Amino acid sequence: MGDCIFCKIISGEIPVKKIYENDDMLAFHDISPQAPVHFLVIPKKHITNLMEVKKNDTPLLGKLLDKAQEAAKELGCGEKGARFVINCKSDGAQTVDHLHIHVLGGRQLAWPPG
Ligand code: 5GP
Ligand code: ZN
Repeated sequence: MGDCIFCKIISGEIPVKKIYENDDMLAFHDISPQAPVHFLVIPKKHITNLMEVKKNDTPLLGKLLDKAQEAAKELGCGEKGARFVINCKSDGAQTVDHLHIHVLGGRQLAWPPG
């Protein structure tokens, strides 16, 4: 947790382009956008990945998804949609070990992932 990049973003140690913040979460633009819209929604609580989520975290996950939907709409993805992604651990290509939802939109994305 001490050297977690996203915890440093939450504490303000690392600056980001913020979209939304409250007591539970932070939404901010990805530093290396893979689509015209690419932002992350993260809990302020350090949860390492989706495999570590506990049953009593599910209301928090609901709030994160709700904000992901709302911000995606605000950023123009309401009509054509977007991709909501949670990479998990090594096979899932997770690089930052603090739970985050990616939201990618503004262009046609390919499926399946490579
Ligand atoms: P993952 O591969 O773990 O699912 O995604 C981590 C994401 O965090 C990547 O898309 C990466 O670009 C983003 N990221 C990593 N470090 C920073 C940072 O310091 N600032 C911002 N805004 N995004 C970051
Ligand atoms: Zn963290």
